[in-house]
Amino acid sequence: MRALRELRLLPLPPGFLVIPGIEVTSRHGHILGLGVREAVPPRLSAQETVELIREQGGVAVAAHPFWLNGRPGSVFHARFDAVEAFNSRSYFLSNPLALRYARKKRLPVTGGSDGHTEEEVGLAYTEVEGKGAEGVLEEIRKGRTSVEGRNVPFCGYLAKALKKAVGFR
Ligand SMILES: [Zn+2]
Repeated sequence: MRALRELRLLPLPPGFLVIPGIEVTSRHGHILGLGVREAVPPRLSAQETVELIREQGGVAVAAHPFWLNGRPGSVFHARFDAVEAFNSRSYFLSNPLALRYARKKRLPVTGGSDGHTEEEVGLAYTEVEGKGAEGVLEEIRKGRTSVEGRNVPFCGYLAKALKKAVGFR
């Protein structure tokens, strides 16, 4: 596997922690790998993708599992470490369905802004205690998280989706 590109980050303020991660397009939907440093090939099954993330010591999260653009239903094809119960780019019932599924299966939850622009970063987040990246990942595995967030305004989301669909960037 090829190593992920080195990120060039601006100097971070004290106390700011960066956890490397990846979003992989599996055959069954998008999957987040938190704590992952090596690329995971796309288009594997959800279960194969989850296993490759765990082999690196990562946490495998079903990303926006009930929203259309992630091929809804990944959660039904693998046993995940956590479910993204709030995603800022998922609308209507998709987030409540993800939260309900996670609770029913007693799976930890995360939240993410899925930001595609600078303004969208931080719209949703996971609250978690833990020392260092490993400590945070372990708390997520144990389900000691809470999720907060709000959506990207739907009009902006729709406009971008339509532009992409017709080939404009
Ligand atoms: Zn996605």
